[in-house]
Amino acid sequence: MGFQANGIEVEVVQGDITDQSDMDAIVNAANAELRMGGGVAGAIHRAAGSELEEETRPLAPINPGEAVMTSAPNLPNRYIIHCLGPVFGVDEPASTLLASCYQRALELAEDAGLESVAFPAISTGAFGFPMEQAAEVASRTILARSGSLQSVRRLRWVLFSEEDRILHEEVFESVLNA
Ligand code: ADP
Repeated sequence: MGFQANGIEVEVVQGDITDQSDMDAIVNAANAELRMGGGVAGAIHRAAGSELEEETRPLAPINPGEAVMTSAPNLPNRYIIHCLGPVFGVDEPASTLLASCYQRALELAEDAGLESVAFPAISTGAFGFPMEQAAEVASRTILARSGSLQSVRRLRWVLFSEEDRILHEEVFESVLNA
C-alpha cells in the first residue's frame, strides 16, 4: 500500500529486507556490536558475508538510537544503514530512542544524497517493542521529517508477516492520511 507525506512516497510491503533491489539503502535492525545476530541482522550479514563484519567492526559499539552507514557487499543496494533500536523495557525512553533511529537513518541517507531507503520494523523482534506502537513511532517520524528531506524521495517499510504488514498499513493510514 502507498502513502504520501509532504511529497515523499511511503510504501508498506510484505517481504524480506535483503530483497529490495530497487532501493539505494536498506536499514539493518542491528545489535550494538554490529555483528551477525538473528532476525534482520542475521539475514543481512548472511547475504553480505564476512566483508560486512570487516567494515562494521571499527564502527562498533553503537548506542540505542544511533545509526551508522556502510557499503552493501553482495547485496543489490548501495548502502546499509545500521540502526540500534531500544530493547523494550530496558532502554528508555523507548519511543524517543526508536524515533531517533529513524531520524538518524534519514539524516545519513540525506548526507549521502540517496533517493530511496527501505526499513524493517526496528526493535519489534528480539528487542520486544510492541508492533502497533512501533508503527506509530515510524509513521509519526516520517510525518515530522518528510518536509525537510531533499534527496530522499521514497521510503519503504518491509514487514516480514502479513499480520505486521496489515497493522502497519492501518497505522500509517491513520497517521499519514489524517
Ligand atoms: P530487533 O532486534 O531490533 O528487535 P529483529 O531483527 O529481531 O530486530 O526483528 C525486527 C523485525 O524484523 C521483526 O518484526 C521481525 O519479524 C522482522 N524480520 C526478521 N527478519 C526479517 C527480514 N529478513 N526482512 C524483514 N523483516 C524481518
